[in-house]
Amino acid sequence: MKSSLRDTLHGKGLRCTEPRRCILQALAEGPKTHAELLRLTELDRVTVYRNLIALQRSGLIYRVYLPGQDPLYVLCDGDGPTHAHFFCQKCHKATCLPAHAVQIAEPWTGQVEKVLLLGRCSQCA
Ligand SMILES: [Zn+2]
Ligand SMILES: [Zn+2]
Repeated sequence: MKSSLRDTLHGKGLRCTEPRRCILQALAEGPKTHAELLRLTELDRVTVYRNLIALQRSGLIYRVYLPGQDPLYVLCDGDGPTHAHFFCQKCHKATCLPAHAVQIAEPWTGQVEKVLLLGRCSQCA
């Protein structure tokens, strides 16, 4: 992440709490499932669940659903609210794309919440 976790959380209007720091630190290593986050952070289920919701609302993390798998929580450290994401279905590498990489045409510009591109990264292709 470019700035400290505290600055990142404050920038999104969230208090910097221990659980949020733990979750963001775990996700900085790569996308994780809810079960993996429970194990890595050693927080209780409800705390993880509540904080995942708050972090998703703020746009700091997003969720990826792959067929037949548990949803993965992914850290978003890109700039701007409307950039697209590329997610490798094989190695789970996630990339925030620059704002110009995918542009949404009018009249949908303001209606799209999240752009997620699934595929294989250059290492897995
Ligand atoms: Zn992003
Ligand atoms: Zn890959």
